[in-house]
Amino acid sequence: MSLNVLVIGAGMGGLSAALALKQQGHHVTVMERVEQMRPVGAAISLWSNGVKVMHELGLGAAIERVSGDMQRMRYLNHDGHRLCDFSLAPLYEDVKQRACPIARAALQKILFEAVGEEHIKLGQHCVDYTSDASGVTATFADGRNITADLLVVADGTHSRLRNKVVGRAVERQYVGYVNWNVRVPATDALAPLDSWDQYVGEGKRVSLMPMGTGGNREGQEEFYCFFDVPLPAGTPNDPARYQKELRAHFAGWAQPVQALIERLDPARMARVEIHDIAPLKTLIDTRVALLGDAAHGMAPDLGQGGCQAMEDAWVLAQAVQKALQKTPALDEALRQALEAYDAARVERVGEIVARARTRAEMIHGHAPALTQAWYAELGQEDGQGVLEGIRKTIVGGPLG
Ligand code: FAD
Repeated sequence: MSLNVLVIGAGMGGLSAALALKQQGHHVTVMERVEQMRPVGAAISLWSNGVKVMHELGLGAAIERVSGDMQRMRYLNHDGHRLCDFSLAPLYEDVKQRACPIARAALQKILFEAVGEEHIKLGQHCVDYTSDASGVTATFADGRNITADLLVVADGTHSRLRNKVVGRAVERQYVGYVNWNVRVPATDALAPLDSWDQYVGEGKRVSLMPMGTGGNREGQEEFYCFFDVPLPAGTPNDPARYQKELRAHFAGWAQPVQALIERLDPARMARVEIHDIAPLKTLIDTRVALLGDAAHGMAPDLGQGGCQAMEDAWVLAQAVQKALQKTPALDEALRQALEAYDAARVERVGEIVARARTRAEMIHGHAPALTQAWYAELGQEDGQGVLEGIRKTIVGGPLG
């Protein structure tokens, strides 16, 4: 049976869901608020669990082609003294998939083209929905109503529809630090070309990650770089001051950090006050699935927000397929599918949201003694502890 599916939001969550459902033969339309797709943020590290979903959807090879070849991980303290340096190969061998740090624009283009322009409608601002056992109707800012069998709400961390799905007001919570992120041409004067380098100290962090070419015309390899600084909420956000602020926050840090600050283009930089939402108890309403950041906005300190959105998409599509095969009545099949999705995802994403928050606080000096203890631990790290944490997150996903 072929369903009419409406997806709200054309981010990586909405597009992954649209593709997974479309590949099962459903008629899918993605409704996106913005008039022109422009990804916010430089790049994203797609860990093996996210890449596995992309492979299942037929996009793995395209993603691997334009993403970074990240083979090592190094932590350094603020003056450049190496705390640890280890290979990621044992992790990749264990989980049978490498990570793929990739330009957001490249990932979005791959997903957008796979879903197909004709299935994505831009400039469509969804403001509400109503649903009952016979269907779901989404309402748009221009007053139009569109009815579907299933509504996928993937409208991001500021989700307008989330409160309705979960039946209460959900507030975003400030995690306590600001993140500046940018891409710069990769050179070994900044970091080894195959290593994810992170400088840590004073609750701050500077990261340089090889992210491939993103398919750029010049074939220029780039680094995905970010700077984290614990700051109160609401500090001024003025691109003209980014470099000056970073020079001040990272004065006296190692030479590659100084070189990076001078080399970056502030006009290409994004600055985000990091927020999350406390784990939700349910991600469904009648005929409605909440998915991606709308369902589990999290601190980016595990690099899992986008990967979890992809897992959501895969699990939802599998649950719909299974229920439709088993149950002839559409209403009952969708009820079962949504319940299966909820059961599979609530605990998984809730645990990752909580773990990302704990890690964010540890990295960013929330309790300074814990952060100091972490720095000391990094000085003793041979890689096994770090890799085991990442491995557990990956193998806990739907594709193992
Ligand atoms: P979004 O990408 O926010 O997409 C939502 C879409 O819905 C948008 O296009 C929006 O315009 C649209 N929309 C909103 N409201 C409406 C409406 N009412 N009607 C119609 N359309 C609407 N994740 C990782 O996996 N790895 C990483 O390394 C990583 N690093 C990160 C670093 C930072 C600094 C941050 C902030 C996040 C990071 N993440 C990472 C998380 C990742 O970016 C998100 O989890 C992911 O983008 C969520 O995708 P989404 O589709 O759910 O939401």
